[in-house]
Amino acid sequence: METKYIFVTGGVVSSLGKGIISSSLACLLKARGLRVTIQKFDPYINIDPGTLNPYEHGECYVTVDGHEADLDLGHYERFTNVQTTRANNVTTGRIYQSVIDKERRGDYLGKTVQIVPHVTDEIKRNVKLLGNTGKFDYVITEIGGTVGDIESLPYLEAVRQLRWELGQNALCIHLTYVPYIRAAKELKTKPTQHSVKQLQEVGIQPDILVLRTEHDIPADMRRKIALFCNVSPDAVIQSPDVPSIYQVPLKMHDQHLDEIVLRKTGVPVEGKPDMAAWLHFLERMEKAEESVTIGLVGKYVELQDAYKSINESLFQAATYNDRKLNLVYIHSEKLNDGNVGEKLSGMDGVIIAPGFGHRGIDGKFVALKWCREHDVPTFGICLGMQCMVIEFARDVLGLADANSTEMDPTTPHNVIDLMEDQKSVTAKGGTMRLGAYDCVLVTGSRAAAAYGCTEVKERHRHRFEFNNDYRERFEAAGMKCVGENPDTHLVEVVELPDHRWFIGTQYHPEYSSTVLSPNPIFLDFIKAAIAYKHDKQK
Ligand code: GLN
Repeated sequence: METKYIFVTGGVVSSLGKGIISSSLACLLKARGLRVTIQKFDPYINIDPGTLNPYEHGECYVTVDGHEADLDLGHYERFTNVQTTRANNVTTGRIYQSVIDKERRGDYLGKTVQIVPHVTDEIKRNVKLLGNTGKFDYVITEIGGTVGDIESLPYLEAVRQLRWELGQNALCIHLTYVPYIRAAKELKTKPTQHSVKQLQEVGIQPDILVLRTEHDIPADMRRKIALFCNVSPDAVIQSPDVPSIYQVPLKMHDQHLDEIVLRKTGVPVEGKPDMAAWLHFLERMEKAEESVTIGLVGKYVELQDAYKSINESLFQAATYNDRKLNLVYIHSEKLNDGNVGEKLSGMDGVIIAPGFGHRGIDGKFVALKWCREHDVPTFGICLGMQCMVIEFARDVLGLADANSTEMDPTTPHNVIDLMEDQKSVTAKGGTMRLGAYDCVLVTGSRAAAAYGCTEVKERHRHRFEFNNDYRERFEAAGMKCVGENPDTHLVEVVELPDHRWFIGTQYHPEYSSTVLSPNPIFLDFIKAAIAYKHDKQK
């Protein structure tokens, strides 16, 4: 079948969850046996979000092929179980860079280079890249930002042209917000009407409207919206707030979103999506009564999107262990020897978060020492693993001034050091060790037991690394290097085997955990946390 293109735009306000709606639709189409991918076009000038502070756009997600991507790609993978790549996330910066490179090469043959047609053509070319591989029946394109933003205009113009060129092979879904005015006890449709008008002004007629709402929108109100917005009544779908984002695909299916998309793109509607495994997950989620309490020690804890993939991985792992996740954010800057016991004693497990730079690092050492001495299940990820190594060096190896050269370039004991091939790198964008690398785990290690195998492939994003010169001293004192890259011998996993569960991974296992295939090391960590909780209660 010819590739179909679905465009998802958003109106009224940002943060409505275009990523979740796109992912939910993809999840349903995939469950119908169709081949689906989702891509995101971000209207900012950065080449990728790798150089952005998490306060700007939350977590930076990493794809297997080493692209630093928008966090929505994490949702795409978690909902579809299909890996994304660099082609799934394009920014205005990349579009312009490619147009300017072409201009310098002389590709435009003396023409004046303009937003229309040159920038819009470049956007269109990128929209079709994944579709042109022949690997997908549906390519869902999420346009970042909100309709009406100056910077999204070239994208909307590209969508308008593509709609025209692709005919029935293209479809537009517009996501808006229907606010509830408490004083008047009324839902209001006007912002939606205005937002659709704005889309129509740039020449785009949405085929489907998805209305985000905190209250049920009555059928007559949906019919009114359909009438005002030129959309068929059955294609006005409401998306009420639900306790878990993983319930959204079913909410969408209940209102036939998948069928409407098939019909409007000329694909026969046969049978139903096979959501058995997904439903099984939701059932366990809904049935779970007991909770497991995990403390996440990091410096961005006031920002819920900063550790998105870790949160979701923990949630998935808790669900598959039939537990509710009680995630407690612990600000690493506020942790000290005086309050650590009070802050951590209620935790069944502790995660030491990834990160960059010195801020909040001392609190991570305080937490690690306390967890190590109280034998609490502890999981260090990336900088968290590096902190495990440093804390152990200081406290157990007696190297009081051990550090990472990231924090102290002159430390006499650089137990964490800049990787050799990073030493000549000065540019910041896209230059870390990025993407999936092989890791061989030591047979009999806790990590190998967690994975149930000794060869894994996980994703990375770092410049600093365990210093192998110290390896023997660590191992002799009890911290084992149980995972390494077979080609470079970089240490990827450390653990304390005489502890209940004390593992640090240089890689980020949170990027590969999905609803249908939760990451084994998170599953094992939660299992250890539950066991610890039971032991504490004895
Ligand atoms: N800052 C550390 C490094 O670059 C860790 C990075 C991270 O936690 N992602 O190696």
